[in-house]
This record gives sequence, C-alpha cells and structure tokens, in this order.
Amino acid sequence: MLKKSLWSSFATDPEKYPKLNKDIAVDVAIIGGGITGITTAQVLTERGYTVAVLEARSVGHGTTGHSTGNLYIIIDELLSSLKSKYNKDVVIRVIESRKAALEKIEENVEKFGIDCDFSRQPLFLYEDVNNIKILEEIKAAKEINLAFTELAEDFPFEQDNGIKFDHQAQFNPLLYVLGLAASIDKEKCSIYENTAVRSVEEQKDRVLVNTSEAIVAAKYAVHATHTPKGLELQYHTTLGPYREYGVAAKLESTSHPQGIFWGYYKDQKYSIRSYSRGDENYLIAVGSPHKVGQAENNQKHVEDLVAFIQEQFIVGQITHTWGGQNYKPADLLPFIGRKTKNSREFIATGFSTDGLIYGTLSANIIADKVEDKFNRFEDLYEAARHQPAKSAKKFVKENVNVAGEFLKDLSFKGDDKDLMEIPPGEAAIITRDGEKVAVYREPNGEFKIVSALCTHMACMVHWNNAEESWDCPCHGSRFDTSGEVIEGPAYNALPKKIIE
Ligand SMILES: Cc1cc2nc3c(=O)[nH]c(=O)nc-3n(C[C@H](O)[C@H](O)[C@H](O)COP(=O)(O)OP(=O)(O)OC[C@H]3O[C@@H](n4cnc5c(N)ncnc54)[C@H](O)[C@@H]3O)c2cc1C
Repeated sequence: MLKKSLWSSFATDPEKYPKLNKDIAVDVAIIGGGITGITTAQVLTERGYTVAVLEARSVGHGTTGHSTGNLYIIIDELLSSLKSKYNKDVVIRVIESRKAALEKIEENVEKFGIDCDFSRQPLFLYEDVNNIKILEEIKAAKEINLAFTELAEDFPFEQDNGIKFDHQAQFNPLLYVLGLAASIDKEKCSIYENTAVRSVEEQKDRVLVNTSEAIVAAKYAVHATHTPKGLELQYHTTLGPYREYGVAAKLESTSHPQGIFWGYYKDQKYSIRSYSRGDENYLIAVGSPHKVGQAENNQKHVEDLVAFIQEQFIVGQITHTWGGQNYKPADLLPFIGRKTKNSREFIATGFSTDGLIYGTLSANIIADKVEDKFNRFEDLYEAARHQPAKSAKKFVKENVNVAGEFLKDLSFKGDDKDLMEIPPGEAAIITRDGEKVAVYREPNGEFKIVSALCTHMACMVHWNNAEESWDCPCHGSRFDTSGEVIEGPAYNALPKKIIE
C-alpha cells in the first residue's frame, strides 16, 4: 500500500474550511479546490465577484498535491509532438500562454508572501540510448527561437545527450495552493471542504449546484475537478486517463541535483528533482505510467520506480510513495472555457502532466469569459472545439482501448470463488446471482462488498493493489473499498452489496 505524497508531510494546513450545510447564492460556484479552482477563485474575487469553492475532500490534496511541483513552459509531450500537429504560430502561442501563467504563479508567491519554496531552476532533457528525441526537440526549439543550451560536462547523470532550458521553476505545489487559498478575500469568497457536488443543473438565467446538504445558486459554475463529472461524453472520449507514481527518498550523499530533470531511458520517461525545506533534503522520481484500471499489478509499477531511483542514486531510505492521475487530450491541447457555446458552465481539463501551469492559465481565461472579455489565448484551448484531424490517430487508439475494456468485461466469465477463499488484505471480482460484485477482504477478515460496475458508464472496475482502490479502465473513475468516489468522472459511489 502506498504511503503518501511528500508534499502532504509539509502541509500544516493554514485553514480548515467548513462543510456547506445551508443554501447560498453567489456569482460563481467553483467545483474543486485544486490549483485550478483556487486560482480561479482568487482571480474572480480580485475582480469583485462573489465566489464559493466547493471541495469534496480537502483543498490542494487532489492531483495538485500529488504532482512533482515543476513549472516549465514546454509540455510533457515535448515541443516536437506539438509541432507535428500544429503550425509554428500555435506552438509559439502555447509557449507564450504557459510563460504568462508561470509568471503569474511567481507574482502570486511574491504578492501574497506564499512560503512554498518557489525558485527559478533550469529544465534538463536527456536521453540514454540515442539522441533522436533530443535532436527533434532542438529542431523544434530552433524553429520557434526558444533559447536552450547543450548539456555541460558537469551534468549529474551519466548521460550527456541533452539540452537545458533556463529560467523554469519549482515549488511545493500543496503549500502554494494552501497559501493562495488563505490569501483570498474572505468577504467575497467562501471555501467549503468535505462538500462533494452531486449534480449541476443549468437553467436559463442561473446554475444550481447541488451538494448532499445544500444548493448553491450561481450565475456561473466552473468545473475545476480535473476532469468534468458526469456524462460529458464529448470530453471523456477524447481524454486518455493515465496513472503514474512518485517516490521520495533520503540519499546517503549530501549532494542533490538542482533543476528539473526529464530523462528518457529506453523510451521510458522519468522526472527527477530534489526538494529541500529546513534541514530536510529529498530526491523525488516520478514515472512508471499506465492507463487507469489497466495495470495487471500496480504495485509492480511502484517497485520499478523504486528500483530505478536505487540504480541512479545511493538511497538511504524511501520515505514517500504515491500515485497521481492525468488526462491526456488526443489533440495535445487542454480544454478550457465554456462547456458548450453560451453555456453558464465552464470546464478546465485535459492538462496531461502540465496542469500546474494550465490550471493557472485556466483561471485567467475563465475569469475573462465570465466578464465577457476577450482573452488572447481563448481560441487555442476552446473547450467546445472539435479537431478530428488533430485527434484522429490518438482518438482511435484510446477508444479502441476503451472498447476493448468493454468487451473484456462483457466476455468476463465471472469468478465463482467462495468469499472465504479471498485472503485478508486482498480483493476479487466475483459473480453472485448473475451480478458482478467487487469484494475487498480487510486485514481483520471482514468483507467490503460493492457493485463492480462503474457508476459513470457501467464498465467493470479493476483492483489497484498499490492504492487499494477500484479503478475503472474506461474513463478513469476511482473508488475506495467502501465504494466512495476518489476521483474521475463518476459522481456517485459504487452501491454497497450484501452477500448472504
Ligand atoms: C504524478 C504527477 C506529476 C505531475 N507533475 C506536474 C508538474 O510537475 N508540473 C505540472 O505543471 N503539472 C504536473 N502534473 C499535473 C498537475 O498536477 C495537474 O494537472 C493539476 O494539479 C490539476 O489541478 P486541478 O486543480 O485541475 O485538479 P486537482 O488538483 O485534482 O483538483 C480537483 C479537485 O476537485 C475535487 N473534486 C472532485 N470531484 C468533486 C466533486 N464532485 N465535488 C467537489 N469537489 C470535487 C477533488 O477533491 C480535487 O481536490 C502532474 C500530475 C501527476 C499525476
């Protein structure tokens, strides 16, 4: 079972927010308190709007608090992939928009005195076997006049096929979001935790956002839940949900490499960085991805990552292990803006692993749309766009994969295992009275039994043995062993089942 993210060890949450238990009315209801929701709340409040942030769990502890905390203007899939789909002007504007968001984060850190260890750092890309990726990146960077330098001799890894982009940045993402939340004007913005939104109803002149205990009436609603909830099919079918893992370690040596390091080892990417706070020094590695709900053995992915870090460094102790999710858009660009033309609902999703910047960028784009103001980047990320040519190959790939998961489930013969055959601490899908149920046996021998069909689109969930959760292989919804939603597009819990 994974431990927890490194960032949560340093979060002495400055505020604990209440649960919403009465109806309220505001200008804008924001669903989700990660970097996207909190930055959007900060920008809108500063512009004079009243805002309510409704967070299902606790502020910042979603994907934001499970990220690597790197801030950079290129993208995870590299400039060369963008260049293969778009013209030079689009690539330049993506970089400009990301640079503006990075500067916004730096400005917020200074303006609000947020203690989150923000520092400017270089980003290094290097490759172990051949130099193809790097050569393509050099070509793409030159084409848009983006400055880089070749790796210097004192590069801390064995490989030296690589380049460096200066003036990127790093921070502690959880401390940043908690600090930003604490800086927001409380007269205009209320933040609620443990307040899960169950449905959103758009009417002619307002939106009703329903939680289990109250209704928020608003002029606009922002879905800042990482991926929109419910059956927003046009988005979920063009987003590939992936899970990857993070490991933090204390090293034997006192020297820790400084910067953002993206290493390509036989086509596997690892992201490596150091983090220091007070007297504590850590080395972090993030990688070992797979599609959500489609790994045979999630724990093996974590073990592979641990083995990688142990090969590269002299590790004293592995202190933290965690998992995180991302949604890759088929056409490489996120969806930010109105859900559909003239809608009162806004979405911000498809950030891949670049969302600390894209989440911040979303705040400005959405705030401008609320004000009916032009934003110079709105057309790039238009949420209601349809780019069949740009998405075609990846769309087909992702959806063949999803279709495969449906078929796998339909042809699944069922497992007539007796409950008592499931060892404590393990789980199985079994068939009872023609119905698939997901059974987890607790270490004390007791059973937790829930429906095995995802409440989003009825795909069958799979057991994640690293995080002890039921994960849906189709669109990435995840549920705990009691069936409660952890993340993903599903609104509702897996119904509890009783087996006589
Ligand atoms: C392993 C990993 C490493 C990454 N590293 C980086 C990096 O170095 N740099 C970078 O730029 N990006 C990185 N990313 C991507 C980045 O972390 C995310 O894109 C970003 O944090 C998304 O922020 P968010 O606010 O949109 O979502 P989240 O932080 O997930 O916030 C969404 C919030 O919505 C809440 N919520 C969900 N459902 C409901 C509901 N029904 N009602 C109310 N609230 C709800 C959740 O509890 C959650 O708190 C990484 C991602 C992963 C997985």
